[in-house]
Order: sequence, then structure tokens, then C-alpha cells
Amino acid sequence: MLRYAKLYLCLIFLSCKAYAIPLKDSGDTINLFGLEGLSENNATGATFIEGDIAVPLKNGRTAYIRSPKWPNGVVPIDFDSSYSTAQKNIIIGAMTEIMTNTNNCIRFVWRTTNTPVWLRIHPGQGCWSYMGKTKSSGAQDLSLQIPGCVYHSVALHELIHALGFVHEQTRPDRNQYVRIQTQNIVSGMEHNFDVFSRTDADTLGLSYDYGSIMHYRSDAFSSNGRPTIVPTTSDGKNWESKMGRGEKMSNLDIQKLKKYYSCS
Ligand SMILES: [Zn+2]
Repeated sequence: MLRYAKLYLCLIFLSCKAYAIPLKDSGDTINLFGLEGLSENNATGATFIEGDIAVPLKNGRTAYIRSPKWPNGVVPIDFDSSYSTAQKNIIIGAMTEIMTNTNNCIRFVWRTTNTPVWLRIHPGQGCWSYMGKTKSSGAQDLSLQIPGCVYHSVALHELIHALGFVHEQTRPDRNQYVRIQTQNIVSGMEHNFDVFSRTDADTLGLSYDYGSIMHYRSDAFSSNGRPTIVPTTSDGKNWESKMGRGEKMSNLDIQKLKKYYSCS
């Protein structure tokens, strides 16, 4: 019965991407959030940068923090029917945090039949999002696997990618604030620590933020449990054990969202 239900949904959405991918065994899959029981991030028609940012294959690596905004800060959404009410409420809680902190300058609204592009929250393979508004029509996917990704902090992080932001530690000036310990990174994963040029990414004139919800943990992609990212400033040293483990947006996260979306 469930199979038929899924087929029916596929016909409605004209998109079965999430179901077309064979699930890989999660096992000890590396993930940015240090969570158990996750599948490796995967999506058809996309590749991943920085672990959880999906990039349409046809576009290549073109847009980073200068990614397309949602017009007027309004993000139409819907949910895959697989989520329980409790799970949806966790994700809606993350949306509410963004709306409240921007005084509703950024808003998540239910999509209607006339909505040209919307964010489809669905339980795909892993926790990931595209960056900014990448589609000109139809559903733009944001994956929060059930149950592994359905946490307030993970939903918040992925929603902020969808609003147009990369990870904090890849901004152009990051080498003044952290040192990347390449010798501790899983072989083949080094590209996730690429730093962006000032042409590709804009710091919006705001300070580096060790406490950002968009910062990696200090042990992200570690092959041996030792840190891959070490803060190098006196302020930063207090953050090493806390980076990437916050539950809510920092003050600077709020400032950058408001600035990017020209909120008052
Ligand atoms: Zn991320």
C-alpha cells in the first residue's frame, strides 16, 4: 500500500527523485552534524560541495554566498506527507526562529497552486539543501531524512543554506581566524574545506563568527578524531569545543540574514 501511495505522490509532484536513489548503508557515514543513522547525502541531478550544499550539475560551482534570493524574502514551502505532525512542528519551529528573528522580513508561507517555485521539505538521503533559490519553476528540494535529520538545529542550518548562505569557515577571510588541519581530514574530503574568493563570496562586512549555526564542527570530516579546524584567535580558542554544536542562530547569523535580505 505504501508503495502505491508513493507512486501516487510521485504523479502529483511529477518528481520522484527522493525515492529513485537506492539508499546506501548509513553505517559510519561521515556527516557534518555528528548524528547517528544517516545515509550519505545524495540527490539525482546534483553534486555536493562542503558536504551538504547541493549544486545543480549543469551550473557547476558558480554561485556561493552571492546566490539568488527568494523574492521579498518570501519562501513558499510544503512538506512531504511522510513527516508526522511532531516532525513537521520541529521543522516549522526552525522556520519560526528565522521569521521571529528577522521580524518577519523573511517569511515561510504555505505554497498555493499558483506558486511558481517552492521549497519541498522531504525525507531524501541525508540532510542537505541547495543554496538560495536555484529553480525557476517547480519544487526545490531540501532533504531532512527521517528521523536522523529532523532536529531543530539541523533544519535551521539547512534552511539558511536555502536562503543563500555557505558555511562560515569557507568565507574568504577564514585563514585569519582558523587553521585547517589537512593531515586530519579523511582522504578525498579536503575539497570540503576550500576557501572562497572575494569574487565568489561576500562577508557582508560582518565579523567572522565561530558561533554561527553555519560553522562546521571542529572535527568535521576528521579521519582520526583529531580536529580538522582549529581557531587561531584568542577569542576563537574558547569556541573550539562549541563550534558547529549550537542550537540556534547567533546574533551575527541574524545580522547576516537581515543584511542579505535588506531587512530594516
Ligand atoms: Zn551545511
